[in-house]
Formats: sequence, structure tokens, C-alpha cells
Amino acid sequence: MDNVIAIDGPGGAGKSTIARRLAEELGYIHLDTGAMYRAVTYAALQEGIDLNNKEALVKLTKSIEINFNKDGEIFLNSKNVSKEIRSSQVNKNVSKTAAVKGVREILVKKHQELAAKNKVVMDGRDITTVVLKEAEHKFYLTASIEERARRRFEEMKEKNKEANYEEIKENIARRDKLDSQREHSPLKIADDAVVIDSTELSIEEVVSKIKAIIEG
Ligand code: C5P
Repeated sequence: MDNVIAIDGPGGAGKSTIARRLAEELGYIHLDTGAMYRAVTYAALQEGIDLNNKEALVKLTKSIEINFNKDGEIFLNSKNVSKEIRSSQVNKNVSKTAAVKGVREILVKKHQELAAKNKVVMDGRDITTVVLKEAEHKFYLTASIEERARRRFEEMKEKNKEANYEEIKENIARRDKLDSQREHSPLKIADDAVVIDSTELSIEEVVSKIKAIIEG
């Protein structure tokens, strides 16, 4: 499968930033699949849907429209929700929505349709193992939990948001556990993925490393 670059890894490993840069440099489209699971979660919270009600979540996922613009902003039924999907409420609940098989089936189909029509750099948790299993280029991006929490913490401080390092670290650890232990499409390293640990690397270094591998 040419023209697709698949990247997986745990939360806060820098996947989206790296994928966005790579897409810019290669002239590809970037698809942040996590943003779509977040959008469904946000919609469910807005509509007061019980996140334990799988049927209601699947019905909701079928009924909403999720789109991106060229700048990577995300729209839920035409409303820009780029900020809202990063709220702590969504952070806390997204892994629950993402564990629902029916929700995943709908979103995976959308991801695959987008990859069939465009040159894409796609990042998420199941891209190398499920969505783009046949991708020629697969990467698993990771970093120590301390470093991932530190990056999130700095990011929030830059945006003048209240941030507590220990809380952030706990939340990341909780999501790591839920995402890697769930029944459907758990986060795991694909046998043919190149693993990159970015703990000691800058964004530029990771991007160069991936580009060097792709360009052979
Ligand atoms: O990448 P991000 O941290 O924004 O993803 C939010 C959540 O969405 C993850 O913790 C995971 O539960 C879910 N997700 C997923 N499969 C993907 C992308 C994200 O299950 N392909």
C-alpha cells in the first residue's frame, strides 16, 4: 500500500505533531484519528449520553458528521470543536468510547476511505495493526511516561491552562492501560513497525529519522 504512512503509539508520544510535520514536508494529508474518537466522545457528553450505553454510542457515531479542514481543525456537524475535544472531560472519557466495537467499526471505515482517496500520514492506536495493515511504512512512536507527561504539562502551561504534572501523568498512565488492554484493537506494536523512542529526541530529529527511512 503506497502513499500511506501509518503511525501508532501511546498518548503524548508526539504522534500528531510529527505526523503533521511529515505530511507538510511530503505534501500529504494528515489524519489525526484520535481527534475523531474525541469528537464522538464530545458529542456524547454534549447530548448527555451514558458512556456505558454502547448502543447509544454507536447510534450517535452513525448520525454525526466529522470533518477536517486543511489546517487540521476538526468540525462536528459543521461546528469547529478543535478546542473542545481537548478538554479534561474528553481526556477522561475518550478511552471508554474508543473501546466500543461498533464505534470503532464506523470510524475505521472512514479512515480507510480517506486513505484510499488521498496520500495520508495517519496516526492513532490501531493504524499499523488494523486500519492500514498493508501500509508500506509503519512506525510505532513512544517515549517514557515522565517525558510524555512533561510535554503535555509544558503544552498546557504555554496555553495558560491550569496544569498539574502528577495529574497529567496519572491520566496518561490510565489511558495507556485502557488502550492497551481493551478487547477490540488494543494498542500494540505491529511486527513490521519501526519503533522510535523519542524520549531523548527533538521533533525535528524524529521527523528526519522517519523521512530517512521512508526515502530509503
Ligand atoms: O491520540 P489521542 O490521544 O488524541 O487519542 C485519544 C484516544 O482515542 C486514545 O486514548 C484512544 O482511546 C482512542 N484512539 C483509538 N484509536 C485510534 C486513535 C485514538 O482508540 N486510532
